[in-house]
Amino acid sequence: MAELSKSKMYLGGEWVEPLTGDYFESHNPYTGKPWMLVGRGGEDDANRAVEAAKKAFHNPEWRDMTPTARGHLLRKLGDLIAENAEALAKVEVQDNGKLYAEMHMQMRYAPQWYYYFGGLADKIEGSIFPIDKPEIFAYTRHEPLGVCVAIIPWNSPLLLVSYKLAPALAAGNTIIIKPSEFTSASALEYVKLVEAAGFPKGVVNVVTGYGKEVGEALITHPDVAKVAFTGGSASGRHVYSRAAQSLKKVSLELGGKSPNIIFDDCNIDNAVKGAISGIFAATGQTCIAGSRLLVQESIHDEVVEKLIALAKTARMGDPMSKDTQVGPVTTYPQYEKVLSYLQIAHDEGVDCVLGGDKATRPECGEGWFVEPTIYTNVDNSMRIAQEEVFGPVLSVIPFKDEEEAIAIGNDVVFGLAAGIWTQSIRRAIELPKKLQAGTVWVNMYRAVSYMAPFGGYKQSGLGRENGQEAIREYMQTKTVWLSTSEEVPNPFIMR
Ligand code: NAD
Repeated sequence: MAELSKSKMYLGGEWVEPLTGDYFESHNPYTGKPWMLVGRGGEDDANRAVEAAKKAFHNPEWRDMTPTARGHLLRKLGDLIAENAEALAKVEVQDNGKLYAEMHMQMRYAPQWYYYFGGLADKIEGSIFPIDKPEIFAYTRHEPLGVCVAIIPWNSPLLLVSYKLAPALAAGNTIIIKPSEFTSASALEYVKLVEAAGFPKGVVNVVTGYGKEVGEALITHPDVAKVAFTGGSASGRHVYSRAAQSLKKVSLELGGKSPNIIFDDCNIDNAVKGAISGIFAATGQTCIAGSRLLVQESIHDEVVEKLIALAKTARMGDPMSKDTQVGPVTTYPQYEKVLSYLQIAHDEGVDCVLGGDKATRPECGEGWFVEPTIYTNVDNSMRIAQEEVFGPVLSVIPFKDEEEAIAIGNDVVFGLAAGIWTQSIRRAIELPKKLQAGTVWVNMYRAVSYMAPFGGYKQSGLGRENGQEAIREYMQTKTVWLSTSEEVPNPFIMR
């Protein structure tokens, strides 16, 4: 077998080997085989990344660059991503096994983050307020935080990098990207475009390695001002508590167990397509997966029948093929986790009406595939309904009326997203108010945009990505007071 290539890390504008001298394998989920070796960064690598980002933050070339010029650089980066969308998508597919069609769409869409936040860079205005004291002039400035760390999961690596990189740079910060140990290749390709766009050295850095090693060193480093984390809830809680020791700003985008609610007044065929796209697209490996399908009792059997019929048509196989609709699970541990949940569901006594096992179809080869799975007769208190599986596994839960639908929908610790299928204008407007979720889709499911705020209620996270408020997550407000008085009044009394 040909020797696997070894990746380097990008620190301070240089391509460097990990100081540990160690590497680990990255696998292609479709073949189950390793295809590259990733540098296993350690504490010393984290330290030099922070050093490089700190130096770049204070470098006048970046510090004194006007917001307008920063915006130009971001737009240039957006253009380069657009030109290289196909190549970036191919690396993603090789490393994370998601469909080329979806990865290509994500990469053609990613430039919009750089155009949008590039445009926003010079529109963050402070304010002058009519201070309630004589002979004082006061105003606010919005300033960057400093060194930011972006921790990225494996499911949509470059899209999630874009969510963080664009606003962080538009605000004038410097950043260290720590991709998932399972999907590091695409971030390393992406940063070559940052280099080509002409960002000063050290403004963007990429370190690779395990979360518990290099990741831990980054989130506890005293010179890191902010951690922007996307990943699982357990890791998120850990990151939050560790970053709290040095009172860093933290934003968290975590998991979900989102209800997709079908009322009996809906267009059933559309709702069934929405249910499928909510759980089987991306092999269920999305934080916004509509993994709990709440169906009104009066149409329950009809919906389930149509769901099974449509899900059965899903073509599995090579994620690079344009005909494939359900690809492999991205990582082997995740594959094992999904299979363990199939056992849990079985033990909980639900009815499995489709799938329920690993996929052994010939077109799945040696890859880590799980059959699209539908469970009925699920009670919302069961583990299969309460815990995030992050795979192609749907729990169908019946409900009687609106009140019960909302109660079941909200009865989880998560609050990332929700879907509603109805033709009633009243329901379409009133029910989103009652759902505890950061995103609610009505008569649609699974859409995101650079301009639409995204984030979680309850234990699905803290802070918002995308949209104008996202840039505030990377800034702090300074109030400047200026006296116009000829003399300093009584110094013993607060002014
Ligand atoms: P994960 O939590 O295992 O890992 C995410 C990242 O955190 C990886 O880069 C990992 O190396 C790093 N990490 C882990 N422990 C760390 C530590 N102690 N210190 C620093 N970094 C650490 O999650 P995953 O399995 O890669 O991704 C799947 C999870 O991500 C799912 O739960 C999913 O719901 C969630 N997710 C959420 C969103 C969202 O926007 N809400 C988007 C995508 C994925």
